[in-house]
Amino acid sequence: MFETLSDRLTSVFSSLRGKGRLSEEDIAATAREIRLALLEADVALPVVREFISQVKERARGEEVSKALNPAQQVIKIVNEELVEILGGQTREIRFAKNPPTVIMLAGLQGAGKTTLAGKLAKWLADQRNTPLLVAADLQRPNAVTQLQVVGERASVPVFAPEPGNGVGDPVEVARQSVEHARRGNHNVVIIDTAGRLGVDAEMMQQAADIRDAVRPDEILFVVDAMIGQDAVNTAQAFLDGVGYDAVALTKLDGDARGGAALSIRHITGRPIMFASTGEKLADFDLFHPDRMASRILDMGDVLTLIEQAQRTFEESEVEKMASTLASDADFTLDDFLQQMTMVRRLGPIGNLLGMMPGMGQMRDQVNNVDEKDLDRIAAIIQSMTPAERANPKVINGSRRLRIANGSGTQVSDVNGLVTRFFEAQKMLRQMKNGGIPGMPGMPGM
Ligand code: GDP
Repeated sequence: MFETLSDRLTSVFSSLRGKGRLSEEDIAATAREIRLALLEADVALPVVREFISQVKERARGEEVSKALNPAQQVIKIVNEELVEILGGQTREIRFAKNPPTVIMLAGLQGAGKTTLAGKLAKWLADQRNTPLLVAADLQRPNAVTQLQVVGERASVPVFAPEPGNGVGDPVEVARQSVEHARRGNHNVVIIDTAGRLGVDAEMMQQAADIRDAVRPDEILFVVDAMIGQDAVNTAQAFLDGVGYDAVALTKLDGDARGGAALSIRHITGRPIMFASTGEKLADFDLFHPDRMASRILDMGDVLTLIEQAQRTFEESEVEKMASTLASDADFTLDDFLQQMTMVRRLGPIGNLLGMMPGMGQMRDQVNNVDEKDLDRIAAIIQSMTPAERANPKVINGSRRLRIANGSGTQVSDVNGLVTRFFEAQKMLRQMKNGGIPGMPGMPGM
């Protein structure tokens, strides 16, 4: 996700490297480049304007710090402005004082509502809630069955009209579901509503009727991030037609540009609450503006990585990984190998690498990485002596040849791995030293 923007911004910053101070022309040129990068990422024009004007003003302003070089300074400003445009704080669910908390999903057909309903239900259940899924999409012939399948996978019960009762009235189903939840001790109700392929008055009315009948605590507008700026238009139509409290962005995994994510908050005034990043139930999380900004700037998203790991691994393994990342001792190739082995159990490698510091630029290579490449990396590390793994600086030319022969690879493979390892090690070291508060340094800066 956000590869396009990430690549463009990284190259903007690298052109500032080595400058002692920023002249007015440097700032203007940088602002122009960032503007192009944002436009190319399909960010809405008013958002781009606001962003650029903030960055320019701050780059010129008094915030000039002696601790940072100009490139770092600009990255710091861009990072903070990205966090701001993405919504600032993470928006959490507001639970009702008197359960059940009613969450209603609205959005176009195909936006990913039903999938999201299942993910949200599982996510809530994992946090000791007792959700109930409600099929109030009675328009699409398959919708009820689809929700039942999703509910089964998430191990969350589904409230649906009895089959054979005709089409049924979605407003009535929604109303009854809340009663049912109250009786059955479900503390959260997730109502999946009908969508159409395009915005239409009848659909809006039905959603508004359901809203009036159940008075949701949270209405989430579910939108496909891959439709870019169209997402912004649809978001506006739903804001006028139904209204909502927050946005759930789906299919971020397929969104190379990021236009919807970067525009929607500013245009609608509603925060992004959830991000969906794949077809599996676990590809889902709260949307963290700060982590997303780090990812866009390719500073890694170690926190999300650790949290995802926590869901997949034993506590002890995760603690070890977290303490390695946080400890003063240098990150070694053994740690690298161990983490890679763990990471492989987490799922698609492309998603994960985006979260690791400095790995973003490898994404193109990485998207073509298959399990065999990972086996090769493991073989290379395993062909090293313990001393080499602990201190890869000792790996000179003749050792590289030995390692390549031992692992059945080429010297260039060994070189590539060692170089990448040093980059990761350097990034982690910079992060720990907090080169910029809350922000790791960029490679080569
Ligand atoms: P609905 O019509 O709004 O209920 O949409 P669905 O939940 O049926 O989703 C439409 C399609 O998008 C399905 O094929 C889903 O598997 C797919 N989908 C949903 N969320 C995601 C996501 O985050 N990433 C990807 N890649 N596909 C998704």
